[in-house]
Amino acid sequence: MVPVAFSGLSDSFFNQLGGRDRPEFYPGHRLRPDDVALLTRLVPPLRTELHRVGTVLVGGTSYFERIADMVAGRSLPIADCRVAETFLFIDEAGRIAPCSFIPDHFDISIDDLHDPGDLDALPRQLRMHQRAHPAGDCADCPSTQQFEKFEPLAA
Ligand code: SF4
Repeated sequence: MVPVAFSGLSDSFFNQLGGRDRPEFYPGHRLRPDDVALLTRLVPPLRTELHRVGTVLVGGTSYFERIADMVAGRSLPIADCRVAETFLFIDEAGRIAPCSFIPDHFDISIDDLHDPGDLDALPRQLRMHQRAHPAGDCADCPSTQQFEKFEPLAA
């Protein structure tokens, strides 16, 4: 997990590398509890350092907590996914979902969007579908979009 920032950027964020979506790499590259402890120690001073050059290192408390839960193997079922209210994933085939893990689950594509009203209705449409028919992945949501990934740390 490597935070990267460049001069002139207003915001920067960080990801886990070797995530569950790459099973061929996950066992060897996944984070360990010691990595999470190190991250927890390093991020606050790094956040302060970046702030001095005008860059906000985003990632709220729940983002850290979710990383720790993932590493510890604690699952997080989502019964009411609201990710699509702020984020949409569209794959190379034009399929639309709240995340990259289940692009075919919702059976909605960009071909189904005909006017701005269709786009406005999309978050609720995806939310209702997920509530009624959650995908298997929703039993332990792997999406970091759920967890304040792009939020600044609360003061
Ligand atoms: S896997 Fe997570 S982000 Fe994707 S639809 Fe399910 S709850 Fe939402």
